[in-house]
Amino acid sequence: TPGGSSKAKEEKIFVTVRVRPLSKKELALKDGVAWECADSQTILYKPPLQDRAAPTSYTFDKVFGPNCQTDVVYEEGAKGVAMSALTGINATIFAYGQTSSGKTFTMRGITESAVSDIYRHIDSSPEREFVIKISAMEIYNEVVKDLLRPDSAPLRLLDDPEKGTIVEKLQEEIAKDSQHLRHLVSICEEQRQVGETALNDTSSRSHQIIRLTVESRLREVSGCVKSFVANLNFVDLAGSERAAQTHAIGARLKEGCHINRSLLTLTTVIRKLSSEKRSGHIPYRDSKLTRILQLSLGGNARTAIICTMSPALTHVEQSRNTLFFATCAK
Ligand code: ADP
Ligand code: MG
Repeated sequence: TPGGSSKAKEEKIFVTVRVRPLSKKELALKDGVAWECADSQTILYKPPLQDRAAPTSYTFDKVFGPNCQTDVVYEEGAKGVAMSALTGINATIFAYGQTSSGKTFTMRGITESAVSDIYRHIDSSPEREFVIKISAMEIYNEVVKDLLRPDSAPLRLLDDPEKGTIVEKLQEEIAKDSQHLRHLVSICEEQRQVGETALNDTSSRSHQIIRLTVESRLREVSGCVKSFVANLNFVDLAGSERAAQTHAIGARLKEGCHINRSLLTLTTVIRKLSSEKRSGHIPYRDSKLTRILQLSLGGNARTAIICTMSPALTHVEQSRNTLFFATCAK
């Protein structure tokens, strides 16, 4: 029905694809470019001549080519979702893609732009009083670590009848102003990099969540005051090659310890949320990542997924896997 489809459109997850430039290493190895951004929504796979295959095209809400700056990716791919947190709607922005495809590069720029936008909004809304809080977590092998208190013990998840899943003892800092918030964000980002060198490829295996809690209410109003509160999550996911591996061993999921349960569960949850009917059981409870994000994915929530990929011929297999996920998500 027309009504039904417009509702589906409203709730739809916003899915974009960003292709980075060839890296120095790819250029040095004379790697070819396998992809072309045909227009602002279409990406084309152009097989090498000897393949004799026809080009394949994929369509998304937006496609960003190698010359596109991150502020444009933010404006066109994430801003709408991010800003809905200012009016009490939970929002989540993900970067999904294989290791070294540009997830961290993209999420850092997106987070920075969103922080600027939030404070621009605060400055232009003198009638409201805002409180911005930040917390940050890393999930590695289904263990949750507090990025604002890196030396603390792993965090436990608790179920609260009203608030849903709570991360017990998670440190939360109140940002005094935009500069203070930027400082706190950079602490979380640095913290993850420290882990990266200590545990070799942690960042390819771990998920990082930076969570802003945005609260506001009208000043100087007596009686019933309308207040807003929402979470805005920035999620830099583990490398998607982990998901591909996981699918390959599917049935052995229960025994495996090298598989990435959170990434696999997230892909299933996103696929179910974006399917037309949204019917059936959505397995939020199967992983730490989806438990933590449950209220920011389903229900009163908006989601943007930025799928990042290398343009290189040598990465075609992984890039196609990424676009397959992107297609399922939209
Ligand atoms: P990931 O987090 O997916 O493993 P990174 O974000 O670390 O990948 O990116 C890998 C490398 O490519 C980094 O050196 C990064 O600076 C660079 N890079 C990624 N995306 C872009 C881009 N759009 N433009 C320029 N350089 C990029
Ligand atoms: Mg990274």
